[in-house]
Amino acid sequence: MTLNPAALDAYWMPFTANRQFKKAPRLLTGADGMYFRDDRDRQVLDGIAGLWCVNAGHNRPHIVQAIQAQAAELDFAPPFQMAHPKAFELAEQLVQLTPAGLNKVFFTNSGSESVDTALKIAIAYHRVRGEGSRTRLIGRERGYHGVNFGGISVGGMVANRKMFGTMLGGVDHIRHTHDPARNAYSVGQPAHGAELADDLERLVALHDASTIAAVIVEPIAGSTGVLIPPQGYLQRLRDICDKHGILLIFDEVITGFGRTGNPFGAQTFGVTPDLMTVAKGLTNGCVPMGAVFAQQKIYDTFMSGPEHLIEFFHGYTYSAHPLACAAALGTLKTYAEEGLLTRASALQGQFAEALHSLKGEPHVIDIRNMGLVGGIELAPLPGEPAKRAFNVFLDCWEQGVLIRTTGDTIALSPPLIIEPAQIDRLVDTIRTALRRVA
Ligand code: PLP
Repeated sequence: MTLNPAALDAYWMPFTANRQFKKAPRLLTGADGMYFRDDRDRQVLDGIAGLWCVNAGHNRPHIVQAIQAQAAELDFAPPFQMAHPKAFELAEQLVQLTPAGLNKVFFTNSGSESVDTALKIAIAYHRVRGEGSRTRLIGRERGYHGVNFGGISVGGMVANRKMFGTMLGGVDHIRHTHDPARNAYSVGQPAHGAELADDLERLVALHDASTIAAVIVEPIAGSTGVLIPPQGYLQRLRDICDKHGILLIFDEVITGFGRTGNPFGAQTFGVTPDLMTVAKGLTNGCVPMGAVFAQQKIYDTFMSGPEHLIEFFHGYTYSAHPLACAAALGTLKTYAEEGLLTRASALQGQFAEALHSLKGEPHVIDIRNMGLVGGIELAPLPGEPAKRAFNVFLDCWEQGVLIRTTGDTIALSPPLIIEPAQIDRLVDTIRTALRRVA
């Protein structure tokens, strides 16, 4: 299949070097199980679950059939003052998987929307409780929370922030936890850095707790290079939030749905947030959908005014879209039947061993892992940050393996159905590429 130049021209691609891509397009035309098919009819091993989302692998029958049947039965139902049964069914199934207490679900269409929804819930919650001065939001350096204005404000990726002007106020950031000097080549959670959570106390001292609504962090920062939380760090953040009445939000858009060996990272790390954002693996990437889980106490706070009035002025035309709900129900069925939400814990030993065998290969300066998430950090090419890792990506692509790079870190997140031999192939392909690139 070839595309004519006009077709290549019209599409403004997201988060892509458009001109470079269009000179040599990488086109995917099909997918099944652990593999994509490309326009050269090659099988390409998927080392990143599409984009951290296809956790059950591609083309799964329950999901495909659910979407097909739903499209024929009920294509759309307005979500404001109306609903359809599958939205309730899905919500009920989801809260069986979440940590105790996170038993209310608000549906969105993406991770970015989930983040902005959670931030709005946090601010509105304090206002409804009579603490309307709590409007400040605290993020973390090197955090990624999607691309909407709320998300980029609390996010800590300079490229996503610097272009977009003056609407990013009312926020502050705690320090990130990346500390290769003390933690390089840690297997699983690094030993050093729990005390970095105390940075929140610094911001409380600066702004006063009475102005702070919430703190948002990813349990594992994925998009800024796979940063695993140091032992004890998340619990310390939880304790400081409790001390000051600040809500803790976990952005589990990538750590949700089995990535770390439990349904959610909150369970793997043993820390329960007040709000939790998800997307991606919720529908196995098949239909756009996100969600925010909220503690009962937060929901109850909103349910205080007159019964005929809308309690929370927020929602999307496509919240709880029938096709998305059907896809999510098919996804949860697949996860349950195949034990996928805990499979990463069985595979993580072999995955860690394979990844860490890259220590000593050319350019490698750190390796990080947790569950089925891996990060391999490379020394940048002098004066050309991100280019060396991208060259590794291109080499792997030519070898028939899809990886992802962010800056000079290779970020791996294979579908949870991956087999041990495929883990070896993934890592050996990267090894070959590392030995070839400059
Ligand atoms: N939050 C986190 C932690 C993410 O990793 C992402 C996407 O990678 C998002 C939010 C944004 O999700 P989306 O691209 O679906 O808007």
